[in-house]
Amino acid sequence: AGKNAGTSVMVYTPSLDRGRAERLALLADLHVALEQDELQLRYQPKLDLSRGAVTSVEALVRWAHPALGPLTPDAFVPLAESTGLIEQLTRVVLSQALQQCRAWQDAGLDLAVAVNLSARNVNDVTLPEHVAGAVVEAGLPAHKLILEITESSVMGDPERTVPVLERLAAIGVTLSLDDFGTGHSSLSYLQRLPVRELKIDRSFVRGLSLPREAQASAILVRSIIGLARSLDLRIVAEGVESAETLDQLRDYGCDVIQGYYVGRPLRAEDIEAAGPFPVLT
Ligand code: C2E
Ligand code: CA
Ligand code: CA
Ligand code: CA
Repeated sequence: AGKNAGTSVMVYTPSLDRGRAERLALLADLHVALEQDELQLRYQPKLDLSRGAVTSVEALVRWAHPALGPLTPDAFVPLAESTGLIEQLTRVVLSQALQQCRAWQDAGLDLAVAVNLSARNVNDVTLPEHVAGAVVEAGLPAHKLILEITESSVMGDPERTVPVLERLAAIGVTLSLDDFGTGHSSLSYLQRLPVRELKIDRSFVRGLSLPREAQASAILVRSIIGLARSLDLRIVAEGVESAETLDQLRDYGCDVIQGYYVGRPLRAEDIEAAGPFPVLT
């Protein structure tokens, strides 16, 4: 195996270029990782402003690679997506997140858990049945699960994806539209989707605190919030890094705040000990 090939035992022909060989090695390692529990979840708090409390957390996957060290999703999620391994990855993440949610419930901590879906997942007609089974297996009511989807993953083949989403919504799972504003958003398609939550993309939130972009970002964020309000969606702002931005978003009518200011992605045990989250006046 190549120099950076981790624990893989694959053998490469010299004609394979280095980048491709590394991807293949990482892919082989990811197969092993999925079997051997090398994937870990971090949980980032979502602060509900009206209640002044953290009412949900987003599960974010990490890979403790035995040779390369801890890897963030950008290093392996796209690879999993392009090879189909994402179906297994999502199932592993979903099951782990639901089990953790159940453990929190048993410990008296009332938290919903959000799991990210990829395009391939929302095109998978077997997903709703699997999700229903996983929720039952964890012994949780379906509303404890939030599934985050992106507009681009839905809009690739809406004839196929919309029925999958409708079945998920029928189970009682909450659907959340992630990275909102980065794709081809339009009112007409938003109305067709059974989503209950909309997450304003981090790039717009970040723009609020950049002098040269603040004014344009404020207009954009306020119009997204107005749109979401008119559709009766819960509005989440992600990537909030300061008290100033939190206050501004609260003034604009945001319901939920997520970002480093509220809390970084944490280990499950640190979620329990994380308080106090910023106290609201
Ligand atoms: P995302 O769903 O938009 O998740 C938010 C990302 O922003 C996370 O990065 C999070 O750590 C980061 N973040 C949160 N608050 C702040 C902040 O205040 N400032 C800044 N600068 N960043 C913040 P992460 O964990 O590296 O995840 C990146 C992306 O990988 C996620 O974007 C999501 O699309 C994907 N991903 C993560 N976990 C999973 C998973 O289990 N399954 C799938 N399919 N995708 C996942
Ligand atoms: Ca997300
Ligand atoms: Ca996002
Ligand atoms: Ca993103």
